[in-house]
Formats: sequence, C-alpha cells, structure tokens
Amino acid sequence: MESAEIRRRYLRFFSERAHAIVPSASLIADDPTLLLVPAGMVPFKPYFLGAARPPGPRLVSVQKCVRTPDIEEVGRTTRHGTFFQMCGNFAFGDYFKEGAITYAWELLTTSVADGGYGLDPERLWVTVYLDDDEAERIWREKIGVPAERVQRLGMGPNFWSMGVPGPCGPCSEISYDRGPEFGPEGGPAVNDERYMELWNLVFMQYERGPGQGKEDFPILGELPSKNIDTGLGLERLAVILQGVPNMFEIDTSRVVIDRAAELTGVRYGAAESSDVALRVISDHMRTSVMLIGDGVVPGNEGRGYVLRRVMRRAIRAARLLGATDPVVQELVDTVIGSMGEQYPELVADRERVRTVARAEEAAFLKTLKAGTAILDAAVAETRSRGGAVLAGDKAFQLHDTWGFPIDLTLEMAAEQGLSVDEDGFRRLMKEQRERAKADARAKKTGHADLSAYREVAAGRTDFTGYVATEGEATVV
Ligand code: ATP
Ligand code: MG
Ligand code: MG
Ligand code: MG
Repeated sequence: MESAEIRRRYLRFFSERAHAIVPSASLIADDPTLLLVPAGMVPFKPYFLGAARPPGPRLVSVQKCVRTPDIEEVGRTTRHGTFFQMCGNFAFGDYFKEGAITYAWELLTTSVADGGYGLDPERLWVTVYLDDDEAERIWREKIGVPAERVQRLGMGPNFWSMGVPGPCGPCSEISYDRGPEFGPEGGPAVNDERYMELWNLVFMQYERGPGQGKEDFPILGELPSKNIDTGLGLERLAVILQGVPNMFEIDTSRVVIDRAAELTGVRYGAAESSDVALRVISDHMRTSVMLIGDGVVPGNEGRGYVLRRVMRRAIRAARLLGATDPVVQELVDTVIGSMGEQYPELVADRERVRTVARAEEAAFLKTLKAGTAILDAAVAETRSRGGAVLAGDKAFQLHDTWGFPIDLTLEMAAEQGLSVDEDGFRRLMKEQRERAKADARAKKTGHADLSAYREVAAGRTDFTGYVATEGEATVV
C-alpha cells in the first residue's frame, strides 16, 4: 500500500467516525516553547490546555513532524527519521480509553478490502502504563489480546506530560512483531527494533502540578474533562505494509536513495557504510525540502540551524560517496516528485525551494575543503598529544569560520576515533550569542552594554544547552 493511500485511509476511517479533518500545520510551530513541530498534537495544544475551544469534539490530522534529537539514529536504526508524518485522532471530552483502543485496533486489523490496513492481529503487541489496569482490561477482555502480548512499561515510555503543570496521563502503545530476523523475542519491552512501535495512544486523564521535568511531579487529581491524543507513524506503517526492512526504503524515501545512488555512482546494497550514508542523504534531503517549503532558510540559529545541519550533513555524505558536482537540486526535485501529491504547495514553490537549497550547497562547498583540512590537522595534533577529545574551541572555530555544524564535526571526529568537547563548544557559542545581543543593544542605544560580558565573566549565565535553544525536545 502506497504512503498516500495509508494517509487517505486514516483520514477516511476517522472522518467516517465523526472526526473533522484538520490539514497539517506548518512545521514552524506557533508556540514559543518549540522551534519545530515534533508531534501531531502540537497544533492542538491550546485545546488540550483549555485555552481555546476545539472546532469539534473529534479531530483527525496527518501532521508533518521534525525531530532533530533523533538525528543520530537516522540510517542506523530502521525506524527513526528526522522528518516523518504522524497520523492522529483526537477527542476532547468525548470518547476515552475504550474508544481510542477500539478504533486503533479496528483500523489496523480490518482487511485491506474493507478499508483497513489488514495487519495480522497475532503480530500486534501492546504496552500499558504500570498501574493502568483499566487499559489492560480493555485490551484483554474487550479486544481479546492474549495476556502474554500485553506488557507494562514505566514512566519514560508510557506516561505523557508536557513538562509543565497541566494535563498528563498514561499511554498505551501498539507495536508490530517484524519477526526473528530483527532480533530475539520478548516483546516491545525488551526489543524495540523487532517489535516496532507503531501507534501511541495517550490518555489525558490527570492534572499535574509543578515539578521536575517530565518524571518528577505531583498528580493533583483527575481532569474534569478527559482527552485523547494519538500518534501513528505513517512511515513505520508503510514499512510493514510495503514489506521493506526500514523506513528509508518505503516508496517516498526509496526514490531519493536511488537518485542519490545515481548521482554518487554507488549502488545501494553494496556495503553497510555506504547504505547508511544513502539513507542519511534520503532522510536529510526530505527534511530539508519540507523545512524550506515551510519557509525556513539556512542560518546559524534556531530553525535555520536545524536546516543547515541536515543539509550540510547530506551534502558531505554525498561527497564522501563520490559526488563531485552539486547534487541538491536533483535531490530536491526527487523529493518534491514523491511528496508533491500530498503537499501540492511544494510543487508550486519548486523554484524557490531549489534556489534556497542550491545557495546553501554552494556556500558549504566553498568552505568544506578548507574546513576539513583544519579539522584533520586538529585531530592529528590531539592524537599526537595522546588526547582523545577534540577541543571545544576547535569545534567552535570550525562552526564560526568554516560553517561546520556541530553534528558534522562530531561525525568527522568520530570517523577518526575522537570525541569532541561539546560543553566547551556550547559555552563558546553561548558567549558569542551574548556578544551579538550586546552589540545589537549597543547599536540601538549608541552605548555598549557590558552587562552580558560581565555576566559571562562572572559565570552567572546559566547555560541550558541545545535542547533548550532548539526547543523541540523540551516540551513534547
Ligand atoms: P520510539 O520509541 O520508536 O523512538 P517514540 O515513543 O519516541 O518512538 P512517540 O513520541 O510515541 O514516538 O510518537 C508517536 C509515533 O510516531 C510513534 O509510535 C512512531 O510510530 C512515530 N515516530 C516517532 N518518532 C519517529 C521518528 N523519528 N521517525 C519516524 N516515526 C516516528
Ligand atoms: Mg523516540
Ligand atoms: Mg517509544
Ligand atoms: Mg511512543
């Protein structure tokens, strides 16, 4: 089943069950705590928080998502992309656990001929939160899932909150057993590659008070009106329904791998390392196109930096595989070719997306060679001292002068067996940011504002790291 059909069926199934279809929001989150949208519920946060009224009690969407924190997994696990689409059904003070569980099961297991996805129920496993007896009872008694395929998981995977006071509650997840070629048995609690998580059902049941992050907080009581938030990974379901081993080989991604293979002269399947590189190119170029399509331009801060990171990593991977000419315009065209049906605005915007991508490639290729020489020299110097960690100021110099995003430096250092002093790098980045702010203030007032320097000098600025800077990992 093609990705486009998976999407159509999801929307049809829930709209036939009284859910209003909401188009995907932009990847640029309308939310000061997030840079990019990492989950389908984000555009609906005001409804969940009670700050706005939803347009109806039941909604359904297929939301574009970007998860930068998953970047290290890309191409190495079979199921993490930086870009993916989350199918979700949402209920506000309407159906709750039994409704959400029953719908999910029905859609997954109804035959393809009857409008479902036709998954074999014997291959589906479910998890519930530690003390969620109610959800377990529904799975076992109402749905008939045997006890040995229901597992209990703790707070980390199976309890959801936004990291701030407000709604929270247990989750229940559905995973698919891909068989012994993906590892030993034991269910999703012990092996999440073989038992691939497909669908997360969040039961917003309680109200949480203030506390430490996502795990340590008091539960104030039951919410007066309970809500449902679910997320089914479209690409992961496509992995199963298309019978491919990973999400980079599904219809919409495989074409990009094939084009990258042509452009670099490497055959997909020739070696594990070049396969990983081709998967990285495919994922990162998809993410780049979707970001540029939503108006992000490459830069050194915020969203622009996310885009720069993924694009430059893809470009370098293509060079390493043997590309000597620019590649991004061809890859942009391939991505738009495969995503344009679902996102026609990309087709209309093709020229602009191409231009932005080409300019970023040209800028990077200008500094890639010189930067690589600087990095190699720094690695050799570190090694000659018997060191195993590349200094933070080198990473900073590479970033600042040669346009090397930190991931690229990490990756290139790791290829030569070194790690990088990331804390040192971030400290210097932070100082530079403070300087820029002070300069901007000085320009405005005509006076140099030295307070930022003083704070840095006194060690008073508390560095909160990239997670906070980039936002998307912090809340959802
Ligand atoms: P995992 O444990 O596999 O990392 P998750 O628990 O982080 O997934 P959720 O936050 O529950 O994922 O998101 C809901 C669904 O979105 C997941 O069940 C999965 O199908 C899909 N999904 C999440 N992250 C990714 C990703 N990086 N690439 C593709 N699909 C994803
Ligand atoms: Mg995850
Ligand atoms: Mg998970
Ligand atoms: Mg999950």
